[in-house]
Amino acid sequence: MTSGGHTTVIKRVLERRVHEPATREDTTATVAVMLRVLPPPHALLVIHAEATREQLELRIHKEMLDVALCAEHETIEWLHEEFRPLVITDNLALIRRIRAEHLPREPFILFITPVEDPEGIEAGLRAGADDCLSHHASEPQLTARLGAARRIAELEEVLRIALIENRELSTTDELTQVASRRFFSKHFPREIERAGRYRRPLSLILCDIDFFKHINDTLGHAGGDAILKQFGVRLQECLRRGVDWVARLGGEEFAIILPETAYEQALDAARRLRAGIADRPFPVQNNMIEVTASFGMCNLEQVPVGERKTADHMLRVADAALYRSKHGGRNRVTATLMPMHPVRRTPDTLESFLTP
Ligand code: GH3
Ligand code: MG
Ligand code: MG
Repeated sequence: MTSGGHTTVIKRVLERRVHEPATREDTTATVAVMLRVLPPPHALLVIHAEATREQLELRIHKEMLDVALCAEHETIEWLHEEFRPLVITDNLALIRRIRAEHLPREPFILFITPVEDPEGIEAGLRAGADDCLSHHASEPQLTARLGAARRIAELEEVLRIALIENRELSTTDELTQVASRRFFSKHFPREIERAGRYRRPLSLILCDIDFFKHINDTLGHAGGDAILKQFGVRLQECLRRGVDWVARLGGEEFAIILPETAYEQALDAARRLRAGIADRPFPVQNNMIEVTASFGMCNLEQVPVGERKTADHMLRVADAALYRSKHGGRNRVTATLMPMHPVRRTPDTLESFLTP
């Protein structure tokens, strides 16, 4: 199974869990599903003694481990290129070298000892092996030891995937791949705090696609989704990478956060975004679809420190500006410069920019 395949199954399981909080039994079942859908772990077989190598190759079944033969001098390179959760080797020096690499993820190392006495085993463990096995090990011994190694590798993988998927589910909007509403609710107030701490300006732009209901009616829901997907990408293309960020607040409404951005620059950004959407049609289902959006910008030149309501206030002001853009005819930008103390805001700070 491809990695995309099992990731999707796991994602579905996790999504279901967001809606139905897991009971203990559910969690057990989830782990069982994940374990079942994962392919056998990748193992590297690095065995110097030819007879032992041939034996192991025959005895390790494909369903148990996906084994690749590897030369000693290539092992480190392989591990750097693609992580292998399990290394089976009879080479003590190699074990020491792998451990000395301090790889981002450590493989489980099974040392195949040619010397069966306790000293041979201890040498392996001291070098950094997780387990040792004689090259004469019986079938049940080999199966049990490889089974334990496999279980560790799999559980580690399940944990890693679950953590990644969980994080992505809660922070990324699945359809558009921009930040989720949840992420926005957490991080927008943090941006405000930061701006206050360093006495920097902060700008927020809200935008809403015009007549999206009509787009849906004409292209179908899937067509509407295709527009939304491209819309998120378009917005991001018009912004500073790694500084400004976009969140989908719901439906066809997005927020764009512009840290350390003064009024004029934010207004330029909003105009750029408007043009970035309106000037180039969106390819959907072999058609080129004209899309426009309305924008409401709000800027705080100096963010008040310790004022808990600033986030709500900026949102309300930006939303009012967006409302003006809609009612002024859509496909335009309305910008608001908020005074230092938001309560004393005056309506004459609103500016509206029509399409050229
Ligand atoms: P306006 O210019 O005033 O914003 O008009 P509008 O048609 O864009 O606004 P309205 O709020 O009337 O309609 C928004 C539509 O967006 C209705 C809803 O079905 C659709 N919508 C919301 N979320 C999604 C989604 O995830 N995918 C698709 N395809 N459509 C969605
Ligand atoms: Mg709309
Ligand atoms: Mg809307």
